[in-house]
Amino acid sequence: MRICLAGAEYRSAGMKPLRPAPGCVIDELRAMLKTSLILGAIAALADVAGGLVLVRARGVDRYLRYFVALGAGFLMSTALLEMTPESIRLSARLGPPLIMAGYCAMHLLEHTINAHFHYGEETHAGEFVSRHTGYSVLGGLGVHSLFDGVAIGSGFALSNWLGWLIFLAILLHKAPEGFTMASVMLASGRSRATAFYSAVVLAAATLAGVLVIQLAPRWVPYGLPVSAGVALYVAGTDLVPEVNREPGIRMALVFFAGVAGFLLLRTLLPQL
Ligand SMILES: [Zn+2]
Ligand SMILES: [Zn+2]
Repeated sequence: MRICLAGAEYRSAGMKPLRPAPGCVIDELRAMLKTSLILGAIAALADVAGGLVLVRARGVDRYLRYFVALGAGFLMSTALLEMTPESIRLSARLGPPLIMAGYCAMHLLEHTINAHFHYGEETHAGEFVSRHTGYSVLGGLGVHSLFDGVAIGSGFALSNWLGWLIFLAILLHKAPEGFTMASVMLASGRSRATAFYSAVVLAAATLAGVLVIQLAPRWVPYGLPVSAGVALYVAGTDLVPEVNREPGIRMALVFFAGVAGFLLLRTLLPQL
């Protein structure tokens, strides 16, 4: 059996490398891509789980706010401390404007076309007089989910650990995202089944994002900065306002726990 590590072939575990083998690089890349698909599928399933909580498991939803706060801290750290510098390393000229473009695209899709959108349960029935509102929110969150997937795929295309960090950062906000989507659908007068399937659409969009990068890895220098801008928007504009809405300092402290969790993991991980 071929044993590959860092692009070199080993005869058995623990032995000196035989030689740098180009085939090994391809083997490792293939393994990495498979990991990104599996983890992308797990993140996608968290969207579905969030939708299920809304239609089937009311009561569990009060725990989702901890994921929102933890996810906000972890995602903000990953976007600012990993995805942004990595994007600039890939292209110092294109990186920053593409990050800004990702941020602006989300502002347009989530909060401009949709005048009323926020994470958490949708309880403002007056904002949903038009039954189409649910679908325009689905469009906005669908594109956002696509870039959740692009972020995971791009991370793994660059390094295994970067992929894992981005996966964790994205995973934490996925269940609240599916829950929010299903809740918006119900508020705009759609059935519980439609509400659930709207969360499934977000899951499919996430997987599609991972797949796009798998099939066209040359897009990573564009996909990573755009998804970094999307992640900054999601953390700062979608998740943090929900944290700030909570009375007391407990939830605010959970945000810092997310940041601390990221820093701890980052120092424990080998060099990315
Ligand atoms: Zn509302
Ligand atoms: Zn998301």
